[in-house]
Amino acid sequence: MSVKMPEADQAILGRRAEIVKALRTIVPGEGVIDREHEMKPFESDGLTAYRQMPMVVVLPETTQQVAEILKYCHAEGIKVVPRGAGTSLSGGALPLADGVLLGMAKFNKIRDIDFDNRIAVVEPGVTNLAVSNAVAHAGFYYAPDPSSQIACTIGGNVAENSGGVHCLKYGMTTNNVLGCEIVLITGEVVRLGGKHLDSEGYDLLGLVVGSEGLLGVVTEVTVRILKKPETARAVLIGFPTSEQGGACVSKIIAAGIIPGGMEMMDKPAIHAVEEFVHAGYPLDVEALLIVELDGPAAEVDHLIARVETIARECGAVSCQASQSEAQRLLFWAGRKAAFPAAGRISPDYYCMDGTIPRAKLPLVLARMKELSEKYQLGVANVFHAGDGNLHPLILYDSNKPGELDRAEEFGADILRLCVEVGGVLTGEHGVGIEKRDLMPAMFSEIDLNAQQRVKCAFDAKGLLNPGKVFPQLHRCAELGRMHISGGQLPFPDLPRF
Ligand SMILES: Cc1cc2nc3c(=O)[nH]c(=O)nc-3n(C[C@H](O)[C@H](O)[C@H](O)COP(=O)(O)OP(=O)(O)OC[C@H]3O[C@@H](n4cnc5c(N)ncnc54)[C@H](O)[C@@H]3O)c2cc1C
Repeated sequence: MSVKMPEADQAILGRRAEIVKALRTIVPGEGVIDREHEMKPFESDGLTAYRQMPMVVVLPETTQQVAEILKYCHAEGIKVVPRGAGTSLSGGALPLADGVLLGMAKFNKIRDIDFDNRIAVVEPGVTNLAVSNAVAHAGFYYAPDPSSQIACTIGGNVAENSGGVHCLKYGMTTNNVLGCEIVLITGEVVRLGGKHLDSEGYDLLGLVVGSEGLLGVVTEVTVRILKKPETARAVLIGFPTSEQGGACVSKIIAAGIIPGGMEMMDKPAIHAVEEFVHAGYPLDVEALLIVELDGPAAEVDHLIARVETIARECGAVSCQASQSEAQRLLFWAGRKAAFPAAGRISPDYYCMDGTIPRAKLPLVLARMKELSEKYQLGVANVFHAGDGNLHPLILYDSNKPGELDRAEEFGADILRLCVEVGGVLTGEHGVGIEKRDLMPAMFSEIDLNAQQRVKCAFDAKGLLNPGKVFPQLHRCAELGRMHISGGQLPFPDLPRF
């Protein structure tokens, strides 16, 4: 593993049998897994380049069990890695050799659906799509729609502040979550927010959403559900160059149109997807935009006409609006299958996630072409174009010596480029282990220490998901007294990883 993780605590590993026994008293039956072959499915998440067997896997079913597990681990100094469905693309759910992997998949019930207040209360192991399915009969849905929505859990979505193609208009997870129950590492159960729209005091809910499993374990989530728009239609727009596609995205937004979704793919991605899904994408273009307009039918027709005019002005060579709901879904099925489709053109791919100001898209695409030549690796691009959120898929073969290392360096250069042009390291996949060591490209030592002090307020012993997000681990006690002087790293003798 080229990413350095915290050293395994041999004293904890030496007590493994005793720890497993104690966990079995909290979660009886099949909820504790300690045999190597049974733990194998948990050794990795969606960032499959990195693997690590956990010390033990625990699958609790109740908040009480989670509270008891965390209380025990806190008292014994045992690390804990929360896990939903394990689809994270930044290694957030990568286990630790001396840690408990806390799988939340058994928290799979929808507790309450309240159409009057337009909310649903769900357990964190419920999949994203299951929420929409549960309310579809009444014409409602849950707006954030990661492409992994068939598998990823709401708990994971909260931890990563996940987004999807419809987040341009309807917001990310943070804009669609009203409340959470979380269990702190001490075993205390805390409720943040609720069915109401606003809460007094600090916005702790805002802090927990996107905290990547470092502040607490989410055991219940209250989400907004929305009424489905009366009409939704998607338009496929083909361009001879990616630069023209990028310019069109900016012009649509500048014209005051906020599409329900606005996605872009470059030629390698279009071809991979079309061969896989047969969505009807044009194959003779360099870039494809999918723009969805939603609302009352008359408004949608009007907006489609405006978008088509802007697209033609930007040099579009083809425009095709969906003529039925089945066709609209087919257009999106292609985009949603873009990552798996990359598996058809390359043995492995490394999915990056960075965000740039929309206007910088042409520049970034041109630089990415140069990087592709420098590292001698192909790249297929899919973007949440409206948000400026890039997902370059770097194509490599892990069986060829050195290709994974080159892919990692290529990816790091792309993320540095995002920061350089005024963007950010991550769009929606989180920092995890993947972007951990790049955090100083974005944040100063002072920024990072301030963020770690927040972590310390929740988890002073640093037991929840250590090794993720922060490039180096400070002990909270020392952090409280830390002063930065002349850019020198204080306490150089402290063990850091
Ligand atoms: C094919 C594919 C497409 C994807 N498309 C998108 C996309 O369009 N948009 C997007 O945003 N992401 C996307 N992702 C990434 C991923 O699906 C999301 O990050 C998702 O939210 C992870 O959910 P999960 O249940 O799999 O969480 P996991 O991978 O299990 O965990 C992710 C993080 O959440 C923490 N966590 C999980 N559950 C809890 C809990 N109950 N309490 C506290 N912490 C918890 C873990 O510790 C970890 O840090 C994609 C992934 C794949 C494989």
